Amino acid sequence: MLVLSGPSGSGKSTIVNRLIESSPVKLVKAISATTRPAREGEQEGRDYYFLTPDEFERRRQAGEFVECEEVHGNGNWYGTLTSELHRAQQEGAWAFLEIDVKGAQSIIQEYPQTLSVFLTTSDHEYEQRLRQRGTESDEEIARRLETARRELEMARSINYKHTVVNDDLDRAVSEIADILISAEEG
Ligand code: 5GP
Repeated sequence: MLVLSGPSGSGKSTIVNRLIESSPVKLVKAISATTRPAREGEQEGRDYYFLTPDEFERRRQAGEFVECEEVHGNGNWYGTLTSELHRAQQEGAWAFLEIDVKGAQSIIQEYPQTLSVFLTTSDHEYEQRLRQRGTESDEEIARRLETARRELEMARSINYKHTVVNDDLDRAVSEIADILISAEEG
């Protein structure tokens, strides 16, 4: 497994897409389930599996998640389905999880051999990226910045194997690609 975390606005989704397109090793993105409503342009089964809170809870109780968390403190749940890990395994690929720090902590504890990467940028840059996206209200942006600060603090206490600074997209992508190559050669 490759686990990538980083605060909202750290450019994660761009990096995820670039890695999927150009990874030197086979990666399958684990599609997360969430109770948050779909944003415009998001597709069921491509961006997320969008579940009702009841359905999410039913599947959680049935033990279908390898990890799940209420990420932003706004009542929305996100989780990685075990079936997504199996899908990657069947394809002989690395399962690529883009999840929050709490989720990463559970995964790293349960599977210590996980390759984990924490992506970071400057505070100022987070806020700018969030504002540029233009999909969140001021209140939501403030909440996400708060989550970002908490995540940075937590990330320090979790043993991510690698930290990558995303000030330059190409460099960040190639750093992660190098990490994957070394791990495969491992
Ligand atoms: P979004 O902007 O899509 O509402 O929120 C994305 C946030 O949820 C990111 O911080 C991302 O890392 C986290 N996230 C997405 N999927 C999962 C998941 O399956 N498990 C956990 N723990 N966090 C997730």
